[in-house]
This record gives sequence, C-alpha cells and structure tokens, in this order.
Amino acid sequence: MHLVDSHCHLDRVDLSAYDGSFDAMLASAKAEGIEHMLCVSIDLESYPAMLKLVDDHPEVSVSVGVHPNDHDRHEPTVEELVELAAHPKNVAIGETGLDYFRSERESCDWQRERFRTHIRAANACQKPLIIHTRDAREDTIRILQEEHAEEAGGVMHCFTETWEMAQQAMELGFYISFSGIVTFKNAEELRDVAMKVPIERMLIETDSPYLAPTPYRGKPNEPKYVGRVAETIAELRGIDVDELATITRDNFYNLFTTARAV
Ligand SMILES: [Zn+2]
Ligand SMILES: [Zn+2]
Repeated sequence: MHLVDSHCHLDRVDLSAYDGSFDAMLASAKAEGIEHMLCVSIDLESYPAMLKLVDDHPEVSVSVGVHPNDHDRHEPTVEELVELAAHPKNVAIGETGLDYFRSERESCDWQRERFRTHIRAANACQKPLIIHTRDAREDTIRILQEEHAEEAGGVMHCFTETWEMAQQAMELGFYISFSGIVTFKNAEELRDVAMKVPIERMLIETDSPYLAPTPYRGKPNEPKYVGRVAETIAELRGIDVDELATITRDNFYNLFTTARAV
C-alpha cells in the first residue's frame, strides 16, 4: 500500500509509545505503508525547530504559515512567508484560513487580513495553499475568490463543511481532504460529501496529533492511522483500498509538485 498523509503536525505527535524516538514513530508509519507526510506549520515561532526535526527525512515535506486560531502569534508579512517558503523542503503555504468556531466573526478582522496575506504569498511564490475553514463558509470562499487563490490552488484540509462549499472550492481548483472525522459514528453528512467528491480531487490526512480515527478515537493520533481514513472512504465508495491509496497519493504529488524531490 502506498499512502500519503497530506496533513500532520509531526512536531506535536506524542512519542511516548516510541520511548521518545521520532525516528521510531516515522519507521512505524513506514511499516504501515505511509510513504510521505506533509508536516504543516501553525506559527513562525516553531517553524525553525520543525524544519530541524524533519530535516534528515526525505519522506517528510513542510509548509509555512500561521494558523487562524491564535491571535497572539507573530503576524507574518507576504515577504516573510515567501522567503521562508523558499526552503527546499517547503511545498506549500499554510495552514491558513478562517475559524469562527472559537472566535466571533465580528472580532476577526485580524483573521481575514492574515488569510489574505497568505493567499498573496502563495500567489507570489506559486505554491499551493493549505486552508483551514470552520464555521466560516461564506467568508472563506469570498476571500479566496477576491484574492484569486485559483492562481495558487490548494486544499481544503480536514473538510467538515457542506457539499455546496466543497463544490465552490473545487470550482477554484482546490482539492478536498478528509481526516479521521469521516470514521466517526455521527459523521453521516460528511460521509455523504466523501461519496460525492470526485476521486481525482480527493486527499486524505490524519491532522495528527488531533482527531484520531475510530477505533483510536480520543487517543493521540499519528500518521500511521491514515490507513483508517483510506479504508473508510474506500468502503463507502465500493472501491479497493489500495486503489484509493494510490489515487490520493498521486493527487497529492499533482498538487504539491515539489514534494517528490524533498
Ligand atoms: Zn486545521
Ligand atoms: Zn492542522
């Protein structure tokens, strides 16, 4: 099986099951068929340490960006993001986007400004965007359109929104990525979306260390569990899990075109 975990936070994964060994955790993912992982940045403060952690691992690429959940982080400029994205392991800008689940829309001008900065950076360096969107469907699509995000393209990561929003994102050339949430008992609507998204627009991810899939729900997540996401969607769509793994892997390399060479 050839699986790719298109979104994980390797610098936050719990290593207690591996005696603290990062290499042992990656080896166990490899043993489960995970051939590549995209380690996603959430702030610039932790970016240098994240790069250092994965530096010797050609099976890991990275992104650079500042997450919409934390207001108190260093606020990036377009120039800063472009410069940091020039690192040879970097394949994307993000994660960025809007999250109105924790903060009121009215008090989130800073999120929208930060989001625009990331889109401008992605267009400037021609790297795809990793979009985090929660309870902010209209603003997310509107800003993507206004800033011409279709020039850079990207992925709606850990997608939990409606089929209508998935369609709007795909019209802008974006991919839709599904996480372990698709395995949760109460995620009927999301499974419905996962049946409808054309397979050539689909990615899979763990978002580890968060959102471990069933039957590991509530435990620390890690890249090796991305196979559970693949199995669940393959079963829904009535196709072989190997086929789903291969197609989503190829989709990943089609979007993150520089990932093969890291
Ligand atoms: Zn996210
Ligand atoms: Zn994430």
